[in-house]
Amino acid sequence: MTTATETAVLGNVHSIESFGSVDGPGVRFIVFLQGCQMRCQFCHNPDTWKINDPKAKKRTADDVLDEALHYKSYWGKKGGLTVSGGEPLLQMDFLIDLFKKAKERGVNTTLDTCGKPFTREEPFFSKFEELMKYTDLILFDVKHIDEKQHKILTGHSNENILGMARYLSEINKPVWIRHVLVPERSDYDEFLIRLDEFIKTLNNVDKVEILPYHTMGKYKWEELGFKYPLDGIEPPTDDRVENAKKLLHTSDYKGYLNR
Ligand code: SF4
Repeated sequence: MTTATETAVLGNVHSIESFGSVDGPGVRFIVFLQGCQMRCQFCHNPDTWKINDPKAKKRTADDVLDEALHYKSYWGKKGGLTVSGGEPLLQMDFLIDLFKKAKERGVNTTLDTCGKPFTREEPFFSKFEELMKYTDLILFDVKHIDEKQHKILTGHSNENILGMARYLSEINKPVWIRHVLVPERSDYDEFLIRLDEFIKTLNNVDKVEILPYHTMGKYKWEELGFKYPLDGIEPPTDDRVENAKKLLHTSDYKGYLNR
């Protein structure tokens, strides 16, 4: 609890999902934070991009955690709290506060990140190290293994993102690598093989997930007045999804909690 003399850090919360089943192990309470610097062409949440969106709710960690704990009985041994976005690392102080308090109350903490804000420079790095003390698992979204293609797909370099993957390996933090399979962008054997080779250099990967690209967020781009960049590109076929799983050896990973 924050005392009356302390000022609580406020998070800009986009939305909450009380019973998430795809963002981490078990049943999870998912907090989507506002703000993202990436501009992924396939983004299905462009409404999270603006960190100070007037529609976001300003909430304290205690407030969010109290709400999450109403659902604790559904979590079982594996479930817990996931913070996603947007990009949660843009609200580092709130995230540290939330995860620290969650761990004090015995809650499993999972962070879903694209790694874009990561740097070994200060003041970010010390805060990130602090956050890692309270983070059980990271869902790490690698958008593209190729630097040039990553820039096309997201508008940004992947250099520091791959650097973050290496750092998480150094500290042996459990990670699930997630990769959105996008026809005409990432769905090429050459890139999938290179991604597989990169993942094999890491020693902390518990799971590799292929997320087939879908067009469900297209209407949001249109509502926001943005031109949808992947117009005309259809989701990958089942065969291509199977191919990607094979090339990334997804069945070789045993999953979190099986260490
Ligand atoms: S990192 Fe996530 S929220 Fe940000 S643009 Fe990409 S898909 Fe959207």
